Amino acid sequence: MPETSPRQSNSYKPDAIVLPPLYAWPPRLLQVLRYLVFDLLFPWTFLLLLVAVFFWNFLSPSMETMSELSAGWMIAIWVRNALILALVAGGLHWFLYIKRHQSDQYKFDARWMAKEDKRFLWGDQVKDNMFWSLASGVTIWTCYECITLWIYASGRQPILTFAEYPVYFAICVPMVLIWSTTHFYFIHRLLHFKPIYDIAHELHHRNVSPGPWSGISMHPLEHLIYFTIFALWWVVPVHPVIIILTGLFQGVSPSITHSGFDFMRIWGNRKITAGDLFHQLHHRHFHVNYGNTPTPFDKVFGSWHDGTEVGKELLKQRIRAKRAG
Ligand SMILES: [Zn+2]
Ligand SMILES: [Zn+2]
Repeated sequence: MPETSPRQSNSYKPDAIVLPPLYAWPPRLLQVLRYLVFDLLFPWTFLLLLVAVFFWNFLSPSMETMSELSAGWMIAIWVRNALILALVAGGLHWFLYIKRHQSDQYKFDARWMAKEDKRFLWGDQVKDNMFWSLASGVTIWTCYECITLWIYASGRQPILTFAEYPVYFAICVPMVLIWSTTHFYFIHRLLHFKPIYDIAHELHHRNVSPGPWSGISMHPLEHLIYFTIFALWWVVPVHPVIIILTGLFQGVSPSITHSGFDFMRIWGNRKITAGDLFHQLHHRHFHVNYGNTPTPFDKVFGSWHDGTEVGKELLKQRIRAKRAG
């Protein structure tokens, strides 16, 4: 069971988490656009979109090949997915945890990756996380992705080309993110249902202080549930790039949101966003922040923790009330 009063990080005090302007009334169009482009999509989702376009054009089997399910091309997609995860998670791990480029600047938690800890395979948090991410995570992600591509390649769903539907394509990019975070809130509540938690989700929560490889370090049952995100494209037709982007968003971006750092210093004092305080608080406190900020179901259902002392006090009150009632 995760600790409820863990060691806080060094001196780093992140800003309070606020609701995104998406739901402001009356609507604030400019703020919404700014938020969508600069806060939500930049830089990581844009980078993943570039990777998805590259994968589709240069590293994907032909539609004819994918019209029949077979091990050969599915293994090739597994290798492609494993390589991109290793590049991003491994790159962040090397930069932040091996090279320690910025020491503990912007680090949420004082702890580094655990070693000689019996909770993890081989007593090593990083090796354990790599094993679950690659052996189970990438395999189940690839299976869902290949089945989805096969549905399109075999003519069971129409392919909406970019040339014919450019606006629809552009809308689909932020929609992947909105769909992913909505889907995540609900499956995550399910994963906290005690029997499923004990069998599956507990494995992900061993990472009280996560690192880049913790992102999709999950039990196979959790992967089976988590990657059902693809099922939307079995009924809603999209361009195959959106299918690949869905996999990248669900499979690779958790290495960024679990990096353990709020920002990454890249050049002098220039920094880019590298973590997710909201989800970090879920790993730390367990009873809060089941979803993500773009789709704030936690606000609606009373489990929102904004990372401040006031938020912490509200959490304590909720736990007391739950125990009393
Ligand atoms: Zn959880
Ligand atoms: Zn997590």
